[in-house]
Parts: sequence; C-alpha cells; structure tokens
Amino acid sequence: MAKKPDLIIVGAGGIHGSAAAARLSKEFNVVGFEQFERGTDKGSSGGWERMSRLATGEGMNYAVGARFSQEKILDLQAATGRELLRITGGIDSSPPSRDPVNDPSWVQTVKGIRRELGLPFEETNGHDLKKRKENFNLNLPDDTEIVIESDMGIISTAAREVNLSIAEANGAQFYFNTRVAGLDYEHRTAVIMEDGQRIDASKIVCIGGNWLNDLLDEKNKLPIINEQRFLAYYPILENHGAVPYVYYTKEHIIYGMPSWKGGLFKTGDSNHLREVISPGAGLTPPGDADYAVTDRIPRELMTGIGGQAVDFMKGRYSITPRGDFIIDLHPDNPDIVLESACSGHGFKHFPFVAEIVHELATGEPSGFELSRFRIRSNDRAALQQQISLIQGKKKDRLPLRL
Ligand SMILES: Cc1cc2nc3c(=O)[nH]c(=O)nc-3n(C[C@H](O)[C@H](O)[C@H](O)COP(=O)(O)OP(=O)(O)OC[C@H]3O[C@@H](n4cnc5c(N)ncnc54)[C@H](O)[C@@H]3O)c2cc1C
Repeated sequence: MAKKPDLIIVGAGGIHGSAAAARLSKEFNVVGFEQFERGTDKGSSGGWERMSRLATGEGMNYAVGARFSQEKILDLQAATGRELLRITGGIDSSPPSRDPVNDPSWVQTVKGIRRELGLPFEETNGHDLKKRKENFNLNLPDDTEIVIESDMGIISTAAREVNLSIAEANGAQFYFNTRVAGLDYEHRTAVIMEDGQRIDASKIVCIGGNWLNDLLDEKNKLPIINEQRFLAYYPILENHGAVPYVYYTKEHIIYGMPSWKGGLFKTGDSNHLREVISPGAGLTPPGDADYAVTDRIPRELMTGIGGQAVDFMKGRYSITPRGDFIIDLHPDNPDIVLESACSGHGFKHFPFVAEIVHELATGEPSGFELSRFRIRSNDRAALQQQISLIQGKKKDRLPLRL
C-alpha cells in the first residue's frame, strides 16, 4: 500500500462509501476497500437511475435529509458539469385511510410534512387525474389521494463514479476486488485483510450494505434483513407526461420512473416477493414470478406503457425491521462508524448519509436529528419477528392484488 491511511472506508464501491470518501478525503488520508469491481451492480447501487423524492412520507428526519441532499447534488452537478439530477415533478399517491386520525394514509403524512416545511404541492385524486391532458400515464383508482410535487425527479447512478473521482482528486486511494475479512478493534483500530494482513488507521468507516454483519462479532450483529428486489423496464408508447410516482398501499409500494436514457419506464413493487438472501449468495436471474409482479403494473395502473418488459434491474436491499437507516458508532469502539440498511430509499440521501458519517468520524456535533438512525438494542427481537412474518406471509403476497 502506497500510503498509510488515517481513515479506512470498507465498502467504498457503493454510493454511500463513495460519497463518504469524497466528503472525508478533504480532511483525512483516505484508503477505501471494495470487494467487487469498480461500478459493480452486485450490491445496492447498480443500474442506471434512482427516484429522487423529498422523502416526506418517511417522516421529518428523512425529509430534512432529502432536502439537504437534493441541494448538494445540484451543487455537485454545477461543480462537475455532469448531469446527475433531473427534476421532473412527480406523484405521491395512496388509497384513502379508513381511520385518518389514528392511521393516516401515506399521502396525508406527505401533505403534513410538506406543509410544515413550506414545500409546495397540488392535491388531486385518481378520478380527476384521468381527466387532465397530462395524466402522468397513471390510471389509479378514482378515490386515490394524490399530491403532485414539483421537486421529484431522477438521479443518475453516475453520481457514484463522480464521488470516487472527487475523492481520488483529493488523494484517496481505492482498492477494488479487495475484501476486508474483519475488524481488529480490541487491540487497535485496524482492519484485517483476507491474507491476514492488519492495516491500522485512526478511524474506520464500515459501509457494508448486505455484508456489514460479516464484519461484526455475534454480540454486535445488527438487525439487517437482506433481500433481493426486481424492477422491469417497459416501453413508453404514448407519453402523457410520465413522471416518477409512488402508489403506497398497506401491502405494496408500487413505484416507477422514466429511465435515465429515455424511452422506457422502470417500475416494480418495493416489497416485491420479499426474498431473503444471504450476502454470500448471488442474485438469482429473473423468473416468471418476478415478471408476474411487475407486468400487472403497466396493465392495471398505467396508460401508454407497453406490456412487454424489455430490460430489468435486480439489486440487493438491506433493511431494518422499522425500515430506518443505521448510521452510528460501533458500540465497542468510538473510532469506528457503521452504516447500512438504506435500501429502498437510500440513494437520494447520499450527501446526507456522508454528512452524518463525517460528523460521527470527526466528533462534530450534528446539525441533524439522528435518533431514528441509532443502533437500538431491542431491534434484534424485532428482526426475528419480521423474518418469520416475511416467510409466513410470502405465499399470501402472491399473486399481487392491487
Ligand atoms: C432495486 C432497487 C431500487 C432502488 N430504488 C431506489 C430509488 O428509487 N431511490 C432511492 O433513493 N434509493 C433506491 N434504492 C436504494 C439505494 O439504491 C440504496 O439505498 C443504496 O444504493 C445503498 O448504497 P450503499 O452504498 O449503502 O450499499 P451498496 O451499494 O451495497 O454498497 C456497499 C458496498 O460495500 C461493499 N462491501 C461490503 N463488505 C465489504 C468488505 N468486507 N470488504 C470490501 N467491500 C465490502 C459491497 O461490495 C458493496 O459494494 C433502490 C435499491 C434497489 C436495490
């Protein structure tokens, strides 16, 4: 290794590891390890594009982070001249709640938080949307609650390479196809490589996605569920203003967006088949069950979108039982930062995640409210419950009932 690191990033090849490297390499001598090749699609960050929303459905912690991130991505775009974020406007939608006071719908939550943050939105419903000239290629049930948000858009996954290049320009060194086998934090703050070599650093940032638990001893294992997810691309036959959208029901989170390259619409169910996979296993190729979920979406919920998928994207989700990110210090060593479980909604937050990682690594007080991202001791029981629920319910989830 050419230089001795001050700070090691394990998992530097995903969007969050690359963003942390870009942020931290301004102050630290950063060395990053990634077990796969540069630009890998074996983790959670592959493919072409991700949806950008202000995350107002997830709650205030996320909405504040998403707004911070959107500004930073626009700055990054201006500074590098690379197009990374297209603001297209988009739709959040959900069926009305039967008990709006105790169990508000997704759209009610979105509206509440947007009002609190002073973010504009337009309200409509499934019936009225169909009568508009630009009906956004959606054919949602008439009583669907809808908000149209001018700040939604799509982000290019090229942001990952932009981050890596910025970090390299700051002097960071990356080692791809290089797996870290473990941590040695009892004797010193160091990583242990597969050949047994120990590398010391004053700080370690572990951004492991599906693999983070491989680095942790039994008592510190985190409540992370690893699943594979599937989205399919369909041709846009007639464009009536196709934009990113989320249709959030109790059972499904149907979502979609125009492809970054144009002409296609990518869509799927964020819950998909709830297929738990081990980090050691590769993703399985798509089969009939995958297409049975996605093919119903252009047929039943959209207009002007062809019914035959022409491409697909498969990726890994790392999620906690509550669906919250984990960004915290290692319980036994304050010089190690742990981050994972951002799947489903983590891409758009990459500047926010990198900022929190930076705060934790430097000990700077946080400008954000971090309680939802902390490691919680009771989460492991919740994890077991959740996995049993997934396995028990899997059969009921098929076929998809929209
Ligand atoms: C199908 C799909 C659709 C999605 N849609 C959206 C969306 O529309 N909008 C949105 O905001 N988000 C979306 N997400 C979520 C988003 O893509 C993820 O939250 C994000 O990519 C997570 O990035 P990461 O860097 O944390 O994880 P990863 O990309 O998995 O990176 C972790 C890296 O760590 C490496 N690593 C782990 N352990 C080691 C080790 N011991 N040694 C060396 N390297 C190691 C891994 O190889 C991996 O490359 C989606 C995700 C998927 C899968």
